Amino acid sequence: MGTKGRELAGKDVEKLIEMLNKAFADEWLAYYQYWIGAKVAKGPMRGAVVLELEEHAAEELGHALMLTERIIQLGGTPLLTPQKWYDMTNCGYEAPQDPYVEVLLDQNIEAEQCAIEVYQKLVDFTKDTDPVTYEIVLQILADEITHEEDLQALAEDIQLMKERG
Ligand code: FE
Ligand code: FE
Ligand code: MG
Repeated sequence: MGTKGRELAGKDVEKLIEMLNKAFADEWLAYYQYWIGAKVAKGPMRGAVVLELEEHAAEELGHALMLTERIIQLGGTPLLTPQKWYDMTNCGYEAPQDPYVEVLLDQNIEAEQCAIEVYQKLVDFTKDTDPVTYEIVLQILADEITHEEDLQALAEDIQLMKERG
């Protein structure tokens, strides 16, 4: 990237690039966890759950794109191999071994809660020093908060359906 632009990102730019790469690893794993979960899901309200999982998969891929563009702008290299996703992830990966909708929702709620913490830290890290990255991570944070809420609302509806028939 341009040297002046890099200067603007503050003196902790190497630390910032590492944090962005770790979040980038999380996004790819979240993408796949949603994508494969949508394929194997079974149980009540399957159609609604699948639509939500597919929508979130697309949005996680969008987050990966936003992060990789910023990593490159900052002069960093985005993780070049899927093996690195496992090495660098904050939030890990939960395979949908049990494809029941409530189990899938719980696994993805947990991943979203982890993502919210990751982006909150990135927001704090950039708020006084790097307005460009700040705006990106703030937008992703808002999306992850919406994701958590969407999944919890679906889990609640399934619970209500079971209780009230
Ligand atoms: Fe995301
Ligand atoms: Fe998300
Ligand atoms: Mg949604």
